[in-house]
Amino acid sequence: MKKIGLLILLAILVAGFFYFDLHQLTTLDGLKNGLSQFESWRAEAPILVGGVFFLIYVLVTALSLPGAAVMTLAAGALFGLLWGTVIVSFASTIGATLAFLVSRYLLRDTVQSRFGERLSPINKGIEKEGAFYLFTLRLVPVFPFFLINLLMGLTPLRALTFYWVSQLGMLAGTLVYVNAGTQLANLTSLSGILSPSLLASFALLGIFPLLAKKILTLIKNRRVYKNYKKPKKFDRNLVVIGAGAGGLVSSYIAAAVKAKVTLIEANKMGGDCLNYGCVPSKALIKSASLANQMRHADHYGLDAVSPDFSFRKVMARVHEVIRKIEPHDSIERYEGLGVEVIQGYAKLIDPWTVEIKRNDGDVQRLTSRSIVLATGARPFVPPLPGIEEVGYVTSDTLWDEFAQLDDAPNRLLVLGGGPIGCELSQSFARLGSQVTQVEMAPRIMIREDEEVSELAKTSLERDGVTVLTGHKALRCEISNGEKRLIVEHDGAEKAIAFDALLCAVGRVARLEGYGLEELGIETGRTIVTNDYLQTLYPNIFAVGDVAGPYQFTHVAAHQAWYAAVNALFGQFKKFRVDYRVIPWTTFIDPEVARVGLNEQEAREKGIPFEVTRYGLDDLDRAIADGSACGFVKVLTETGKDRILGVTIVGDRSGDLMAEFVLAMKYRLGLNKILGTIHAYPTWAEANKYAAGEWKRAHAPQGVLAWVEKYHQWRRGNAK
Ligand SMILES: Cc1cc2nc3c(=O)[nH]c(=O)nc-3n(C[C@H](O)[C@H](O)[C@H](O)COP(=O)(O)OP(=O)(O)OC[C@H]3O[C@@H](n4cnc5c(N)ncnc54)[C@H](O)[C@@H]3O)c2cc1C
Repeated sequence: MKKIGLLILLAILVAGFFYFDLHQLTTLDGLKNGLSQFESWRAEAPILVGGVFFLIYVLVTALSLPGAAVMTLAAGALFGLLWGTVIVSFASTIGATLAFLVSRYLLRDTVQSRFGERLSPINKGIEKEGAFYLFTLRLVPVFPFFLINLLMGLTPLRALTFYWVSQLGMLAGTLVYVNAGTQLANLTSLSGILSPSLLASFALLGIFPLLAKKILTLIKNRRVYKNYKKPKKFDRNLVVIGAGAGGLVSSYIAAAVKAKVTLIEANKMGGDCLNYGCVPSKALIKSASLANQMRHADHYGLDAVSPDFSFRKVMARVHEVIRKIEPHDSIERYEGLGVEVIQGYAKLIDPWTVEIKRNDGDVQRLTSRSIVLATGARPFVPPLPGIEEVGYVTSDTLWDEFAQLDDAPNRLLVLGGGPIGCELSQSFARLGSQVTQVEMAPRIMIREDEEVSELAKTSLERDGVTVLTGHKALRCEISNGEKRLIVEHDGAEKAIAFDALLCAVGRVARLEGYGLEELGIETGRTIVTNDYLQTLYPNIFAVGDVAGPYQFTHVAAHQAWYAAVNALFGQFKKFRVDYRVIPWTTFIDPEVARVGLNEQEAREKGIPFEVTRYGLDDLDRAIADGSACGFVKVLTETGKDRILGVTIVGDRSGDLMAEFVLAMKYRLGLNKILGTIHAYPTWAEANKYAAGEWKRAHAPQGVLAWVEKYHQWRRGNAK
């Protein structure tokens, strides 16, 4: 109601402005014709005329009416350079701020809720550097000021900041125009004001903020580095700490562009992914899936068998797979690529010096122009009372500890309902463990849509996992020699007995022990970096799990390119890391793959969307393979084929997703996927059929009705 009232008031003011012919005063001719009359009024009552002029100026700018430029000239002609500048400077800033506030009040909520997602980079930029952007826009009159007022109102910029930056930024332009106004009698057109020399001075004014920014950065850097003495020469161009995905790729890129680079790894080359994460878990998943297929061989016309196996051998195969992949990440391979590899524990001594306690006992110091921190994450162990007494494994330790067992743990309790917890729960259940999975949240895989969580839960339960959601772990205890976890559910406590406890409740960035604290490098859950992956010290970068926000091997590798290039060539051009299209897969059966938005995220962000779904129970290949379950769900912009996000649940969904990742990255819509030939009978056809569903839903019914009539007529049956 209030908004409607304000709109009516604005409409009345605009109508009044034109009704009383005030707009005549805001044209150059109108002004010149009335100038002598205005001058005589001003001579008689200067304060009154000054006040009325001020108010009209505020009104013109607040209502975003045309004519502010002419009124600025008039101010020069009537009040002279000094008073003209004072009046216009305050009136224009007050008017602009009123326009800013009106736009904010009337439109910001609607615009932000409608375009929230797409505006989020702009919002972030404005929050960080809004004053700077505004100052630049005010100094360089490229965009009309009224537009700047209205648009800035839609951003999170503070009104006070808008006011003072506008007043300061517009001062130079105001002076130029008021000064021109003092010569009004000689001016024939508005464009006459913008002579080449004047334009040149505007250009200089435009460069000024950029220069100011550079100078500010220099000052900031000086402050950051002030307690350290920069070496005159450096031993290396780049030192990389940590040889997981992030560190390996950073050092590889540096060597490829002929930089002198040293990679330091305290533990195993390949980091978490090779040794404790993706590789062992996927090897285990394969054995478990085969065991499951044997049990259900009757689905394929074969006799079902209960797999006879030694768990020890399954774990031995897991280690064998690691061994086979190891050469990809080995010291030999990287040294062959031109990377110096040192086995040891690295610590930052100052922003350019790294001390390495080598595994052979030596201590060495290296100076480097830039440093990449790729130190990864470790499993989080919840501080439950009694947990140390009952003992537990994590993804770091289970591969070695369980390798000694002849059988999978009898009663395995998995704490955590995220992707790692789900993958391991299903695999151990298929390998013979009685698995109980405990999750505090109301559902497992909480980042995915509810129907996906539901499907995942059903498939885990089908394999024998007891999935307990909404259960909060309270403490561990040993009662009568039996290990138990006490959980709370619906206000009541209950005990779950187990033989082995696997903690999979998330992984936390490694932030201690290698100099971050001493150097004051800012950390939260991860190391704080800017869009270029620079830490507090612009020559120190962070990538991978230690930097977040995603914890995936492919994201660590993606970030590594930005960190290496920015570290080595940032003085020429820096690249902002691009997180727009990040896919991921949870390798349960059926696989769950995602890229971009799902329904719950789109709703949270207020992004309008349409859903198109294709059921895999309809896909010929899925039926032939006996895996006809799951779906391809595509979110598109309303009425358009532009893809906002895709969720695929089903066999090989991680591989199927690649086509959508490419489409999103290069802005190819569903029409393009539909127009692409997919071999028959493949799983990839599901993508094309999903695009076909979208097309069917958007068929032009009106045109088709006419086409039907045309065909009728062609058959000679026209009515
Ligand atoms: C069970 C499990 C399954 C997973 N499955 C997948 C999956 O399917 N797909 C996927 O994309 N991701 C998966 N991940 C996540 C993936 O493993 C990580 O995202 C990835 O390993 C991160 O790489 P990184 O380079 O950031 O760190 P890491 O691989 O952790 O490497 C960091 C390295 O730094 C070393 N280091 C640390 N501090 C120092 C120091 N001061 N001096 C010297 N060296 C140091 C460490 O020893 C370590 O080797 C899984 C993780 C787990 C645990």
